[in-house]
Amino acid sequence: MESEIKKLLAKAKKEHILTQGELTQILAYPSGSLLYAAADEIRRQFVGDEVHLRGLIEFSNYCKQNCLYCGLRRENKKIARYRMEVDEILAAAARAKEAGYETIVLQSGEDDSYSTEKIVAIIKGIKALGVALTLSLGEKSYDEYEAYRQAGANRYLLRIETTDKKLYEDLDPCMSWANRLKCLEDLKVLGYEVGSGVLVGLPSQTLESLARDILFLKNFPVHMAGIGPFIANPDTPLAAYNKEGKNNLELALKVMTLTRLLMPSINIPATTAMEALSPGGRFRALQAGANVIMPNVSDENYRRLYKLYPGKPLPLEDIKTYRANLEIKLKKIGRSIGLGHGASKAFLSGN
Ligand code: SF4
Repeated sequence: MESEIKKLLAKAKKEHILTQGELTQILAYPSGSLLYAAADEIRRQFVGDEVHLRGLIEFSNYCKQNCLYCGLRRENKKIARYRMEVDEILAAAARAKEAGYETIVLQSGEDDSYSTEKIVAIIKGIKALGVALTLSLGEKSYDEYEAYRQAGANRYLLRIETTDKKLYEDLDPCMSWANRLKCLEDLKVLGYEVGSGVLVGLPSQTLESLARDILFLKNFPVHMAGIGPFIANPDTPLAAYNKEGKNNLELALKVMTLTRLLMPSINIPATTAMEALSPGGRFRALQAGANVIMPNVSDENYRRLYKLYPGKPLPLEDIKTYRANLEIKLKKIGRSIGLGHGASKAFLSGN
């Protein structure tokens, strides 16, 4: 069995192609160590040792949607909701820039109380700082995406979550998978650097389905892929999955590494959810194909209220100290903080 896996990994490293059956076979193999080493090698070869930092501002935890796995879902009455004012958002972005963050990520639930004009004003204010800007605001119309792009937004993150249409629509009531895909296509047409990704370990999700997800990311193709382990939130209808004590970290790492092998030049974040499942999880991800970290740069009071899932790690230091400490930790594993905007090499080369 091990020799078969080694053969498949050698093929993936050389050709960056695997079939759905081959991906499933690797995902089913109990040990991940061969896989992690292969993805680390490909990461070093194609995107180097730099780790790009993205300063994340989670500016509203209101959401009109009701996804069963998410703590921000509209029917969750246990969460304290907040919305940041425009000047608070701009101040957070300016502090991040001052602390050395060259990309800002603006993220929220699907909150229609911010009009297009307001979002455009925020985009222009942040772009005036000379940083790259990523948006993660959920599903919007083509016209809204276009207005954001014209205002200067560079990148957009919208996870497909799963390519299993039925599973998607069961877990995200009132949302349509077809519209999700349309949004991603609109973003591509508008020239965004497009990020997507999947949730790993969802109830009734199969390894075959995860293999299809990886192929979807490759064939779309995305410029950035965020792979998050599913963590059951006790304040959601999927709370019971918490009690099973199932830890999806290893499976998420495997999906992430296969994504790196098939898409060597994209950006891949070491996700916060990986750290939530295991202290050091984010560093494991960095040594298994990831090359991006997204530290939260909002005020601490807001950071703790953006509860997608339990156990979210909250940095206690101020953002400047966090960056300095991170630099020291990265040095120990032979990595450095990336300079400049850190655009995806896949995007820059037109792939
Ligand atoms: S996953 Fe996104 S769209 Fe769904 S409830 Fe959470 S924030 Fe809203």
